[in-house]
Amino acid sequence: MIARVVINRFDRAGGPQPVRSRGWTSTGSIARVDLNWSDCTGGLAPGISVPGPYAARVSYSFDTFDHEEHMSRAIDLARTAVKRGDRPFGSVLVRDDTVVTEASNRVVTEDDLRRHPELDLAAEANRAFTPDERARTVMYTSTEPCPMCSGGIRSTGLGRVVYSVGADELREFTGGETPARAAQILDGVTDVTGPFLNDEGRAVHERFDW
Ligand SMILES: [Zn+2]
Repeated sequence: MIARVVINRFDRAGGPQPVRSRGWTSTGSIARVDLNWSDCTGGLAPGISVPGPYAARVSYSFDTFDHEEHMSRAIDLARTAVKRGDRPFGSVLVRDDTVVTEASNRVVTEDDLRRHPELDLAAEANRAFTPDERARTVMYTSTEPCPMCSGGIRSTGLGRVVYSVGADELREFTGGETPARAAQILDGVTDVTGPFLNDEGRAVHERFDW
């Protein structure tokens, strides 16, 4: 499998310098290179060296994933939570375009405020996956992660979060202030994108007795 790795260089010292990997050089501030996974040996920037005064953040491209299928599954899990007597939230973790684990909200039935699906999955990823695997993993979640879960996702270093319903939209149903957004908390570690399949995600909240 080919991975597209995007390197964002942060210039700490002055003018641009080239970033080099095997057989490849870029003088731009953002460089892209296709690597075989077999070339990727540990770390987030396998086979890539960045000149001394620069730091690099490497993010994997997840653009070939079947976003619709994975988000539909997360929304399905939100419905499953409601049927069980919990609140309408569900999430999946996806690597190499395959769901590797999934969870739904269990705060009410387990009487445990930590049982948000995103935090469950972050904890599981931390136990079961290597740092490199976590960086290659996407969380699809029916609603934007709250600050507690975003903290867990940040600690475990997932590559990307995709949500269906934004935290600002959720307030339309639950009331109250919008908390710190996931994109702020995860800045520099995990890409956050959304809303995606927003109508389907909102429909779950509209049906729920908030
Ligand atoms: Zn949460």
